Amino acid sequence: MPEGEFEFIARRLRPLATAEGALGLTDDAALLDPRPGHQLVLAKDAMVAGVHFLPDDPPAEIARKLLRVNLSDLAAMGAAPLGYLLALARPSAIADAWLGEFCSGLAADNAEFEIALLGGDTVATPGPLTLSLTALGEVPKGAALLRGGARPGDDLWVSGTLGDAALGLQTLQGKLEVTGEARARLIERYRLPRPRLALGQALRNIATAAIDISDGLLADLGHILEVSGVGAGLDADALPLSPAAQDLPGARDAALSGGDDYELLFTAPPERRADLEALARRLDLPLTRIGEVRAGSDLEVVDARGQRLEPRSKGWQHF
Ligand SMILES: [Mg+2]
Repeated sequence: MPEGEFEFIARRLRPLATAEGALGLTDDAALLDPRPGHQLVLAKDAMVAGVHFLPDDPPAEIARKLLRVNLSDLAAMGAAPLGYLLALARPSAIADAWLGEFCSGLAADNAEFEIALLGGDTVATPGPLTLSLTALGEVPKGAALLRGGARPGDDLWVSGTLGDAALGLQTLQGKLEVTGEARARLIERYRLPRPRLALGQALRNIATAAIDISDGLLADLGHILEVSGVGAGLDADALPLSPAAQDLPGARDAALSGGDDYELLFTAPPERRADLEALARRLDLPLTRIGEVRAGSDLEVVDARGQRLEPRSKGWQHF
């Protein structure tokens, strides 16, 4: 006999609801006191079994990824996280033990990011397991990073390394043979993104536009260019690759077009280069200049010799 909804809330969810405003999940809704001079920042993502994760993925890692992709959206806005709401639609085949592991994943990340569950809902469903999480954060009023502020002459920057998550997924799917330490690193990058919260907050007074890379560098860069009304030149050979990725076939294509890296892509005026180099050292996180914002609306991708690359069905190739 699976545990009922109220038992599930009491046993599994209440221990996650450590914030005062969560009221121990005893009331109909949570209470938040916004700090004076701040704005609330809200982000929501949903994940469906068989679509966004594999049914046999480890439940704790599914929970942490669901939370982290939302925290990554807060990071892209320059926000600090406050807490989150969770909705869970559960098919009868999902065992109590699965939910227990799922909740222990949330507990681990509550501790890591110093946040708490604020409330939510659980329902039964005849369909696949469906999870939805809403993250709440705050930012000083008017200081949020938006997609629309890039200006011609700005540098294009990216954090961390690109393509690892896409290569990790290809490895899990058996499409790419990688062994040993490199295999473990790539799969971890796919399953457990690292939201760049400290970087996002530090960029509030430096970046002119920002986005987190969830759909792939080119797709997400396209969003910045569209909203800002600008074009860009991108140096494909400048893209930062990890030691695990750099010698693999398709690494550059994964860096250009693969998703799930959850690094930050941002623009900043050239006079901020020294500030960004100092920030990279302070955060111990590589920040790499990968191109420049231009007038117009074209995105030109070139290699280190200045030769233009064009998309082909099997990735980006020389024109
Ligand atoms: Mg995003």
